[in-house]
Amino acid sequence: EGFLPFEHEPYFAFGQPEVAERQRVAYREVREKYVGQSFPLHIGGRAVAGEGTFEVRNPADTREVVWRFPRATPAQLEEAIRCAGEGYQEWRFSDPLQRATIFKRAAELLRARRMEFNAVMGLENGKNWAEADGEVAECVDHFEVFARETLKWAQGKAVYPMQGEHVTTIYEPIGVVAVISPWNFPAAIPLGMSLGAIAAGNTVVWKPASETPLSSLLLVELLFEAGLPRNVIQFLTGTDEVLGDPLVDHKDIRMIAFTGSKEIGCRIMERAAKVQPGQRWLKKVMAEMGGKDPTVVCADGDVEAAAVGIVQAAFGYAGQKCSACSRVIAEESVYDALLERVVTLARELKVGSPEENAALGPVIHAGSAERIMGYVENGKKTARLVLGGERADAGEAEGGYIAPTIFADVDPRDPLFQEEIFGPVLSFTKARDWRHAIELANDSEYGLTAAFYSRDPEKIAAARRLMHVGNLYVNRKCTGALSGTHAFGGYGMSGTNAKVGGPDYLFWFLQTKTVAQKY
Ligand code: GLU
Repeated sequence: EGFLPFEHEPYFAFGQPEVAERQRVAYREVREKYVGQSFPLHIGGRAVAGEGTFEVRNPADTREVVWRFPRATPAQLEEAIRCAGEGYQEWRFSDPLQRATIFKRAAELLRARRMEFNAVMGLENGKNWAEADGEVAECVDHFEVFARETLKWAQGKAVYPMQGEHVTTIYEPIGVVAVISPWNFPAAIPLGMSLGAIAAGNTVVWKPASETPLSSLLLVELLFEAGLPRNVIQFLTGTDEVLGDPLVDHKDIRMIAFTGSKEIGCRIMERAAKVQPGQRWLKKVMAEMGGKDPTVVCADGDVEAAAVGIVQAAFGYAGQKCSACSRVIAEESVYDALLERVVTLARELKVGSPEENAALGPVIHAGSAERIMGYVENGKKTARLVLGGERADAGEAEGGYIAPTIFADVDPRDPLFQEEIFGPVLSFTKARDWRHAIELANDSEYGLTAAFYSRDPEKIAAARRLMHVGNLYVNRKCTGALSGTHAFGGYGMSGTNAKVGGPDYLFWFLQTKTVAQKY
């Protein structure tokens, strides 16, 4: 389509001293430029204040307030939805190549500022360098992918022809999309949902997580700088009372694109089903929710590769990914060796500040740490604790630091096996054989990601057929989906299976028009 072949954005090699130094410098600059600042809302192309502000704290040391964001008022929500509706009347007819050009330009602008974005993310949500870098690189990929997708869907699709009629099938945008996003991927997740909406010709009301608004705002401003008309995205921060149910319930919202917890996803689904007075459509809901992602290791699997993959997927970003590995299910003959190796590798993880690039940082806040420790304390009564099980010492810093924790011999009915913990807690369960292992892996209401380690083509074929997940990874870890390649989204209670970054994603934000014409 006129673009060079797609390539994923390469990661920084932080192992090289000069690259590491650039990241340190970026942290210093970000601290100078942004810490202590208050940031605006964006409504109808204007940067405005709200009614008071709220604090964003550094999870690495929660005594530090890093920046402040406005609390939007109900009237501002109303105004934002109105402006998005107005913006839609123009943007719906925007030239697809114009959209693609904006996204390509945004990719260029972001490439030049990746270190800065990494540092902002580290200060807001506690990702270390590599974790932040993976996410910011994913944002570059999103821009490149959506530039191509917008052109692809603008072409319509062929239908079977018939005599005497000229028939076309084209895709049109749907309206104003509410984007509601979580703190764990504060850039890539809302960006993916928003670009999906915008690439399709819709306009957006973007509500980021209150823990991590700056990672979102910088992307919105970057898009404006790249040429996106300023009324295409409205950016609102504030309380759930003002921006939660009222946004979802509003009659002028056409679609809600949500990523977050199962509880909130179900709530949105239910509320959005209610047709409000004056509403002229059935709302669409995209809801990407949790995971309880298994790694299956067969007797013939590569135990060393599995151990390395498990540790990365379970403890990367302290397990705070819906894609994180939280269950290991291994055949009896490799169970002990695998457990020992995983424990050894996990024990080596240094707990500390993400700004210093420690392997294992804090969880997002105190409430989260308490919830996780609740699971850990219960687990001590029902399973065999083999590593961690306590808060970790991070020196002076006040934060939710939790030692990498591993339980063995976990019963499939245990909450450790069934419930999403969203922290650095991993469970091991023994399977009689590989078929039993697949059964255990599928014994979950979720179905997001899974890893399967085996060298046997028959077992791999069975796993491909039977594993009840949206993203199955064979002989590799279950985190780190790449935009454009690993379309991401789950089965079951993991959500609506929207598959961000995949070939059908834009269809979610479109409606189909058939025109049959006689000459
Ligand atoms: N896309 C991310 C991955 O593949 C996970 C996103 C999430 O945790 O919400 O690891």
